[in-house]
Amino acid sequence: MKIALIAHDGKKADMVHFLSGFRDALQSSAIDLVATGTTGSHIEKAGFKVEKLLSGPYGGDAQIAAMAAEKKLAAVIFFRDPLDKHPHEPDVQMLMRICDVHNIPLATNPASAALMFKALTQTYGT
Ligand code: PGA
Repeated sequence: MKIALIAHDGKKADMVHFLSGFRDALQSSAIDLVATGTTGSHIEKAGFKVEKLLSGPYGGDAQIAAMAAEKKLAAVIFFRDPLDKHPHEPDVQMLMRICDVHNIPLATNPASAALMFKALTQTYGT
């Protein structure tokens, strides 16, 4: 069971903080983490095991969208920065669209991600 994690630069600290709140639940669950490159490096430095893909602007968002389309993801957590511009905005939109096409749970802020995570760690806890 895999969850994909992506955070824009202004939200990477929020992502690490968010995950840290679920450290115990994550460690005792069957959940694997996959992330875009730079987000993954931040998560790794915080002590989590994570599969790192390409950086978002270099195709990482597209790789996660492909995994969602292939039903390889249980959920996507995507902390977007609504106050910044992104050169890969088309990929951002594409990823969210693919999640909707395939009915993949998608959380774009910590409040919704926390609700989603609680349900997932209960379902996939050991
Ligand atoms: P990053 O990509 O984790 O490599 O920074 C995230 C994004 O901007 O989509």
